[in-house]
Amino acid sequence: MPRTYNFSAGPAALPESLLRQVQTQMLDYDDLGYSIVEMSHRSTPFMEIAERSEESLRRLLNISNDYHVLFLQGGPTLQFAMVPLNLAESGDTVEYAVTGYWSRKAHREGSRLRNVHTATESNHTIPDPDTWVRVRNSRFLYFTTNETIEGVQFSQYPSNRSAPLVCDATSDFLTRPMVVDDFGLIFAGAQKNFGPAGLTVVIVRKDLCRTPRDNEAEYLNYAVHAEQNSMYNTPNTFAWYFAGLYFDWLHEQGGVEEMHRRCQAKSKVLYDLIDSSELYKSRVDRAYRSLVNVTFTLPNEQLTQVFLRRASQVNLKNLKGHRAVGGIRASLYNATTIEAVEALAAFMRQFEAENI
Ligand SMILES: *Cc1c(COP(=O)(O)O)cnc(C)c1O
Repeated sequence: MPRTYNFSAGPAALPESLLRQVQTQMLDYDDLGYSIVEMSHRSTPFMEIAERSEESLRRLLNISNDYHVLFLQGGPTLQFAMVPLNLAESGDTVEYAVTGYWSRKAHREGSRLRNVHTATESNHTIPDPDTWVRVRNSRFLYFTTNETIEGVQFSQYPSNRSAPLVCDATSDFLTRPMVVDDFGLIFAGAQKNFGPAGLTVVIVRKDLCRTPRDNEAEYLNYAVHAEQNSMYNTPNTFAWYFAGLYFDWLHEQGGVEEMHRRCQAKSKVLYDLIDSSELYKSRVDRAYRSLVNVTFTLPNEQLTQVFLRRASQVNLKNLKGHRAVGGIRASLYNATTIEAVEALAAFMRQFEAENI
């Protein structure tokens, strides 16, 4: 059975060479006689894997010693609660930019826990950060670098002058350069750009972390996880190991600058096609179109279904838009090849010629 062109939004396609490497190590890791998923997280081989993985990520993004790098569970969704719980006290004000589905969900969770001020709210575009309504004494300004569902991406980040920046970078993490020093905290789930599901990397400035108070859960505290090197309890050892391979693979491919160049090239193929098409329409403001989640619509639901069925028949898989918005979404994360994108573009041209 040949591998298909997989445009899944997440858990997403992984580099084929890494899947093969993992397969060969699955019965016997490094002549130990057992696999990576059968060893203690406190054993020497796993501790080495964990350290190497963190070190590789630190080099990819040039992360200084002022930051903890944590490998946590619970997904980005748990960070929607951990961020306000750790970076603000009850009664404190925090700011959120609501630019789509995921930031809206984070905003809702934040509002249950702290005083939330909405700095901006938009759909299918991102208002210039200079026009956002800001408040004094905010503990952080939260935003989502790439809205995975709508396909909207920040081209430039807001300024960190009045409050530390916090971002959910899940869907474009390691697909573009980032100046970590500009941020208070960055988090990203692995299942889009750097591994299987069940692992979330949190990069947090050390001075923003504090030990838990008497009425707070230890498990929800960054300082506790940092103190224990992300082994407060059993971590997702498999995902952590896989992420380490993925970070090394990114170095071999040329690092995040090269990934950014590829994402620009891949998305351009589809956006150029959409812009010259009568059939496919993009709802997203041109300046903020995502380089990693290309969304578009067809004139009606019936034709959308035919498109998906025909695409699947020629091995172009997982192109259905999120149930919240419908339409089509092609996710072009780090492991998606230009060859896959060109196969999709060829199909789209042919489908248009037959249906216009
Ligand atoms: C996928 C995604 C999430 C949710 O991830 P979970 O693992 O389901 O918690 C959150 N934010 C963004 C930007 C995402 O793309």
